[in-house]
Amino acid sequence: MNYQRFFTDAIDALKAERRYRVFADIERVVGRFPHAIRHTPEGTRPVVIWCSNDYLGMGQNPAVIEAMAETARRMGAGAGGTRNISGTHHPIVRLEQELADLHGKEASLVFTSGYVSNATGISTIARLIPDCLILSDGLNHNSMIEGVRAAGREKAIFRHNDVEHLEDLLRRAGRERPKLIVFESVYSMDGDIAPIGRICDLAERWGAMTYIDEVHAVGLYGPRGAGVAERDGEMGRIDVIEGTLGKAFGCLGGYIAGSDAVIDAVRSHAAGFIFTTALPPAVAAAAEASVRHLKASAAERARHQAQVARTKAALAGAGLPILDTPTHIVPLMVRDPELCKAASDRLLERHGLYIQPINYPTVPRGTERLRITPTPFHDDALIEGLTAALVEVWSHLGLPFEATAHSVAAE
Ligand SMILES: *Cc1c(COP(=O)(O)O)cnc(C)c1O
Repeated sequence: MNYQRFFTDAIDALKAERRYRVFADIERVVGRFPHAIRHTPEGTRPVVIWCSNDYLGMGQNPAVIEAMAETARRMGAGAGGTRNISGTHHPIVRLEQELADLHGKEASLVFTSGYVSNATGISTIARLIPDCLILSDGLNHNSMIEGVRAAGREKAIFRHNDVEHLEDLLRRAGRERPKLIVFESVYSMDGDIAPIGRICDLAERWGAMTYIDEVHAVGLYGPRGAGVAERDGEMGRIDVIEGTLGKAFGCLGGYIAGSDAVIDAVRSHAAGFIFTTALPPAVAAAAEASVRHLKASAAERARHQAQVARTKAALAGAGLPILDTPTHIVPLMVRDPELCKAASDRLLERHGLYIQPINYPTVPRGTERLRITPTPFHDDALIEGLTAALVEVWSHLGLPFEATAHSVAAE
């Protein structure tokens, strides 16, 4: 049996569909973000990153780096165990208190990543509720889909952000049946926002529990950076809030926040929490420093929104077909996988700008795009440079310019 053949065939299939992924080899440089160094077989090249989820540049914040370095020097590199067996170090306990406070909840629980927090959090919560029906938004992230699947409970998918459809499904299930609604606040590919208040209204009317993924909102929205639910005054109505420490907080890790009972039950039953080594103390300390900083400082959020608005205005002004989003995510539509890859390659090779192409299965076929994420560190000159480079690439590849952007959801 030639086992290698199975794997080369699997890769060839991706290549034939133009879905084979090529990673850029990037070396970020503290104090220079979004400027970085790209390693290529021909040597190093300067590059400007336009697709980072380090939305506020907190990964290079001096207080965050110092917390990480100082803690590593004092406490060493690893946690040395699972949470149950010697791995519950003081920085992770402090971090959990900080996150519970951020979301105004009784408790929180930290996981290895946001992915793990959704996959193991949703599945554990749903399995602890007898006969639970999971109502899941149609555009939920893969980590939530995995959590729903692993729960092994009945599920019903409601059309993206469609509260009428959600209410239909709730009514069909009836008030008496236990129900868990799982959805996101900011959807990361289309950059749109869930009707959180209306979903909470329905949850109260029909007796459902709510679980929200605020991964693309924590640090970025709300007076203390707790997310869109905080900004909209709905945070207290959500039962479980999930977030990441790896995006706007610039570190690594994920968490859920909720009541003492929910968090204690997940702590006690979630395999993806129990049977794995705790995050290193240095990472927990850095994340705590980042959360604390963004709780007290709105300057990063204000500058972020300003540079996002400038970027949108510049690109739209040049006739580039961006989606008009209410968030910091700027999708620039290409609608073809090969052209999307070609545009990304040309931006990188010719202009030194790095925007990873987003193709199926991350987004539906025919909605391929460049997902642009300006940060407070993308100054006006960089925005001008991006606009000029994109106009050159669009002209070179014969991509259409448009007066107005269309919504993906409408397609
Ligand atoms: C990135 C992402 C996650 C996973 O978070 P990580 O900390 O990167 O594992 C979860 N949900 C959504 C919506 C995401 O985009």
